Amino acid sequence: MGQDEPTQLHARLDAYAAWIRDLREGRSAAPPAIEGEDPLARLGRELQLLSEAITRRENELRRLSRIVHSAGQEILVEDVLESIFRGFAGIIPYDRIGCAFLTADGARLTSYWSHSLMGPMRINKGYSQRMAGSSLQQVFRTGQPRILNDLEAYLAEHPGSNATARIVAEGGRSSLTCPLFVDGQPTGVLFFTSRERNTYQDIHQATFLQIADQVSVLINKSRLFQELVDKNRYLQQQAEQLQEEASRDPLTGVLNRRAFMLTLERHLQAHAASGQPLGLIMADIDHFKAINDTLGHAAGDRALCEFTRRVGALLRPNDYLGRYGGEEFLLLIDATRREELPAIAERFRRAVAESPFDLGGTERPVTASFGVASASDMGEAPDELVARADRALYAAKAAGRDRCVLADEAGADEAGAD
Ligand code: GH3
Ligand code: MG
Ligand code: MG
Repeated sequence: MGQDEPTQLHARLDAYAAWIRDLREGRSAAPPAIEGEDPLARLGRELQLLSEAITRRENELRRLSRIVHSAGQEILVEDVLESIFRGFAGIIPYDRIGCAFLTADGARLTSYWSHSLMGPMRINKGYSQRMAGSSLQQVFRTGQPRILNDLEAYLAEHPGSNATARIVAEGGRSSLTCPLFVDGQPTGVLFFTSRERNTYQDIHQATFLQIADQVSVLINKSRLFQELVDKNRYLQQQAEQLQEEASRDPLTGVLNRRAFMLTLERHLQAHAASGQPLGLIMADIDHFKAINDTLGHAAGDRALCEFTRRVGALLRPNDYLGRYGGEEFLLLIDATRREELPAIAERFRRAVAESPFDLGGTERPVTASFGVASASDMGEAPDELVARADRALYAAKAAGRDRCVLADEAGADEAGAD
């Protein structure tokens, strides 16, 4: 038997060699018999454990690269963080993840995003803490994730830590605080929190450090993108507001002449294409000059505003009111036939005349005259339509004011107009 021992030993070593080769080449092979207490069996067991540890490590790396990959698919910072939140499940234990960013001067850390499985949160977006005197400075200095495995004890030692107090109130009992760096500069922090004490171990620190650089870059990139999106939205709003202001009459707030004429032109084009009827009314306040002359310019301004308020209140959603100049206004009456226009104009007239205007301490009856025209089916330029409404208005003035006059249809003998 003694003669066989070297042969047997060689056979067992060969079996180990074959097993290790299989593992190296990616085949999951069963280990040779590793029972017993001789040194070779012990070596076999160690090799077995090593192989298991390598497999675990491989799986973890695969999952970490999946986190980076799927977070990299996202563009908006919320989505990136949400993806990281899902991705870390099973790799680093947590019941809550929060992300906070340093201000450009590094003076404050402001919470940007958080997601908790523990219930209502007491640190939300916008929560901000000063960096001066904060223990987080140490975390940035070392660049190492920090483990606090008993937050209640930490709070008892640091009763001034408002953020810890809030997290403890949320139910957090241990935390892993991971600094984020881009190009060596601290940019923010990713906070992992668990509702259990003693959750975090060195391995979790090491795991985070594996992908800390990529996670930092991803978060930062998406945040810069978000800033661009926000700035763009802001600029767009500003542009819209400017556009809006540029199209309004500053005194009354109704469309100014230019904007109204553009609107009228657009509607006339649509009218020519669709044949849908369209009315235009020109209104002029009667004896307006007398208001200015007797009560002053400010009272005149009030009369203009009250006029647009009363008339504007009667507009339907697709109608428009514009100030043509002085105390003259234009009304675009959408999708309305010629026969219906006088009654509509009459409602405007009545709304003005039915009760006196409050002109700042003085009540005064005010009336207006209205010239009403229906857009020609033959196609008509805005100015031509306005001119017809203006002639009808002139007729209303001549006939005694405080009335509505319907213009002849376009092309009719103007001499026969009202
Ligand atoms: P009619 O009944 O024939 O329309 O007479 P009227 O006095 O209303 O018309 P007229 O054209 O003689 O006078 C219009 C006045 O409106 C003259 C002008 O000084 C005044 N006006 C023009 N714009 C404004 C304004 O923004 N505010 C004030 N308070 N007055 C204005
Ligand atoms: Mg007038
Ligand atoms: Mg006038």
